[in-house]
Amino acid sequence: MKTVTTLDELWAERANLAGPVGLVPTMGFLHEGHLSLVRQAREECASVVVSIFVNPTQFGPSEDLATYPRDTDRDLALLQAAGTDLVWTPTVEVMYPPGFQTYVEVEGVSAGLEGERRPGHFRGVATVVAKLLAAIQPQRAYFGQKDAQQTVVIRQMSRDLSFPVDVVICPTVREPDGLAMSSRNAYLHGDERAAATVLYQALTAARAAFETGSRDAETLRQIMAATIDAEPLARRQYVSCADPLTLHELEGPVDSALLSMAVFVGRTRLIDNLMLDNA
Ligand code: AMP
Repeated sequence: MKTVTTLDELWAERANLAGPVGLVPTMGFLHEGHLSLVRQAREECASVVVSIFVNPTQFGPSEDLATYPRDTDRDLALLQAAGTDLVWTPTVEVMYPPGFQTYVEVEGVSAGLEGERRPGHFRGVATVVAKLLAAIQPQRAYFGQKDAQQTVVIRQMSRDLSFPVDVVICPTVREPDGLAMSSRNAYLHGDERAAATVLYQALTAARAAFETGSRDAETLRQIMAATIDAEPLARRQYVSCADPLTLHELEGPVDSALLSMAVFVGRTRLIDNLMLDNA
């Protein structure tokens, strides 16, 4: 496994990689969710490239950029064990050199849900992913369903900008008690860790209702909201029952839907989602 930082180093190593090349973009502090993407890429591609970059442009001014957890040595050991060929760890100066002034903005599907509560977030995400795709030129790029809106935004961006890449979405990896794995789970202290299972409990309560015939979108939102509100350490930011393609909020009876939410547990903001499908 090679590790590179500059663009020149990246391009020199990229030229030696057999295709198809699979890319797994990450912000580091890796867990089993990230590693599941690497393993799927390993199975489907001749070469696997992983990027580790805590992307400042996708953090809002009051968000956790400064405290975002980092452990590059541990990440590299995990990536080596998972069979990664090349790791790119660009600095902020490599990714956004002085004078940088080009951003990618995906309009419709970035507007609601996370985009509404984190203004500018998806502009940062789309910009950095476009730069990763342009620099690495993978045939396949792997993303987690954990960040559901991000998958929709990236598919749209990739299509609109004609990137010759297959965007592959991998299932959410969870802890045994249902909590979706996330680097931000490291922020949870004491009782907050147990309380954080309320997101998955809310999603599965709504799914159970759906499967026993409760198809009304507002009823499903109310079930999720009531479950979260019953947990004293949790504060609901939003719950959503949306069209999986447009991400527009649904009303009335639904056949398929993306259930999603953002919840503060203590000071930690967590997101999770579940897809409902009547098929
Ligand atoms: P991040 O480092 O949080 O930017 O995540 C990098 C990639 O890993 C993104 O495509 C995430 O959606 C994905 N990912 C994060 N957590 C999980 C998880 N629990 N299961 C599956 N994929 C995940």
